[in-house]
Amino acid sequence: MAHTKINPLEMAREQLRQAAERLKLDPSLHEKLKYPKRTLEVAIPVKMDDGTLRVFEGYRVQHNMDRGPAKGGIRFHPSVDIDEVTALAMWMTWKCAVVRLPYGGAKGGVICDPSKLSQGELERITRRYTSELKLIIGPEKDIPAPDVNTNASIMGWMMDTHSMNMGYSVPGVVTGKPLEVGGSRGRVDATGQGVAYVTEQVCLKLGKPLQGARVAVQGFGNVGSHAARCIHQMGGKVVAVSDVHGGIRNEDGLDIPRLIEQVSKTRSIIGFPGSRECNNEELLTGDCDILVPAALESQITAQNAAAIKASIIVEGANGPTTPEADVILEKRKVVLAPDILANAGGVTVSYFEWVQDIQSYFWEEDEIRSRLKTIMVNAFDEVWSMSQKHKVSLRSAAMMLGVARVAEAAKIRGLYP
Ligand code: NAD
Repeated sequence: MAHTKINPLEMAREQLRQAAERLKLDPSLHEKLKYPKRTLEVAIPVKMDDGTLRVFEGYRVQHNMDRGPAKGGIRFHPSVDIDEVTALAMWMTWKCAVVRLPYGGAKGGVICDPSKLSQGELERITRRYTSELKLIIGPEKDIPAPDVNTNASIMGWMMDTHSMNMGYSVPGVVTGKPLEVGGSRGRVDATGQGVAYVTEQVCLKLGKPLQGARVAVQGFGNVGSHAARCIHQMGGKVVAVSDVHGGIRNEDGLDIPRLIEQVSKTRSIIGFPGSRECNNEELLTGDCDILVPAALESQITAQNAAAIKASIIVEGANGPTTPEADVILEKRKVVLAPDILANAGGVTVSYFEWVQDIQSYFWEEDEIRSRLKTIMVNAFDEVWSMSQKHKVSLRSAAMMLGVARVAEAAKIRGLYP
């Protein structure tokens, strides 16, 4: 994988600076939006299976709450650090505003490698971390959700831990939970589904059919696998995918439903019948029409941006493209649907889940899909119009929309005290 570790917080602040400049934003509002409202750093002492004690470090950053309670995922990964979590929290703020959700942005992370932990250890980390966050999370305060290496079972443990601490069931404290404890239909594949809707919209605007388009997807986890499945269902030809172990290609198109079946059994894409292996760099720069980075940040950089062959990039991951790479891609007229728009399907259905939990009334899957599509298509149209009006990239347009909405809320609320 292309890895020059670029500081994501510097990247997020540079994107904010550019949006503020284009919007001629009041400098005092810009100053306020540069900083997270609240950061909690916690030590998580955990008894390991061999009887020893290990202390893990965790964070929760609430970047902004001017539009509503904070919202954002929890990441379990060895490379988590405070700057990464803060950048991800900032991106959540703009993302929620772009799709007009009544939320601010937050993010959480624990420095750990889940592939080296037993289920029991993972559960104990999750429960102690959740307890440490008790002061600042809750349905009206801050609502976590899954992110890299966290899933519905982990959200179930978080919901249970918070409920135990409060003394009553609090389903609305996290989203992305199993259905049985207040989860929503359509949440598991919502981010991938949203990525596919946005891909379809870009193709429609550019007059390039998605039907038959060759697509490469980096990352085959929650976002990547569902994005690949939905794009495959819409007629796109997924020719390459990769995960942390490497990549696979088949110029005739991979049978994505069968690949998902293999991954559910073997946990690996490698060795898929009819495919040849490729590395992650080849995945990014190999032949395709549409590239969907859906793994981690800083993958498309100044080093590889010129070699990318796709004419459309749809960001499933958060922050996969560095600002230097953005400049190169823009010059090359590559159309890039940015993360804060393209992967907003997940937080949108998380919002539906929260609303359903608060009402204790649950919707059918068709209703969720159609509401998700309406929100994604409307947001896409607004970002597209903004980019046409101001002659800027879709990233700049999405940032301008998101930042302007948050700044307006901050201005209306005024400064306390
Ligand atoms: P996940 O843990 O389910 O999957 C991550 C995938 O990336 C896995 O297939 C993993 O093998 C792969 N990967 C990890 N390191 C890699 C590397 N070095 N090279 C290639 N592949 C690598 O995580 P996810 O939830 O799918 O999240 C992926 C991205 O999407 C992250 O940037 C996340 O912040 C973002 N995102 C997730 C959601 C969500 O609802 N889960 C919503 C919006 C954005």
